[in-house]
Amino acid sequence: MSTGPSLRVRGLRKVYPSAPPVVALDGADLDVHPGERLAVLGRSGAGKSTLLNILGLLDTATAGDYDLLGVPVAALSARRRDTLRADALGFVFQASHVLGHRTVAENVLLKLTTARVPAGRRRDLVDQVLHTVGLSARTHALGATLSGGEKQRLALARAVVTGPRVVLADEPTGNLDDGNAANVLHLLDRQAAADVTVVVITHDPRTARWADRVVELADGRLHRVEGRP
Ligand code: ADP
Repeated sequence: MSTGPSLRVRGLRKVYPSAPPVVALDGADLDVHPGERLAVLGRSGAGKSTLLNILGLLDTATAGDYDLLGVPVAALSARRRDTLRADALGFVFQASHVLGHRTVAENVLLKLTTARVPAGRRRDLVDQVLHTVGLSARTHALGATLSGGEKQRLALARAVVTGPRVVLADEPTGNLDDGNAANVLHLLDRQAAADVTVVVITHDPRTARWADRVVELADGRLHRVEGRP
């Protein structure tokens, strides 16, 4: 494990080969350290999803360097990228993608099964993470019966149950009222306190105020935002 930044990005460039080609990232630089909470702002079309997909090993850059936990990802085979993604990263999206016809516990179990966590450890991990996100009482409820805030807490439970070193979140509080947004941010705080790196893409001023550092994506580059929105 590297002692440097968990995410290190240099000169990142992404060009979509459409007609005409779209330059979504044009020399982005970024360091994010263990335990840091970073918010990424940017208008629609600024390249935020593109950046998150590359940081999340869901897409590759056209040029530039990206090291995740000290590993230069450009050199990895597809198989090793998949392994690194499953081992190191947790994802939270605005839409929680909770499976409505499965119970809360099954929603989390499915993630552990996909991550090939040994069967004997799964039940304890589910109980622990549901306790952490305050959903123990809803363990056997169907996903469809959860409120919006509960669904987002379940999404967070799924993202962190495998113990990722980095959590990447896309508008995790976008659909939530103040109370539920505060709950989700508090859960992300607990991750950061455990030295997990938390990167959140957001339009939400509540989330930008919460972050340790705010950067804005504009003209394909990342700019530091000094004052808080
Ligand atoms: P944001 O998430 O900030 O709204 P995106 O990363 O989705 O921005 O998009 C950045 C730019 O890249 C936009 O101009 C968008 O239209 C373009 N883009 C995104 N995905 C593709 C694609 N698959 N092919 C062509 N252009 C794309």
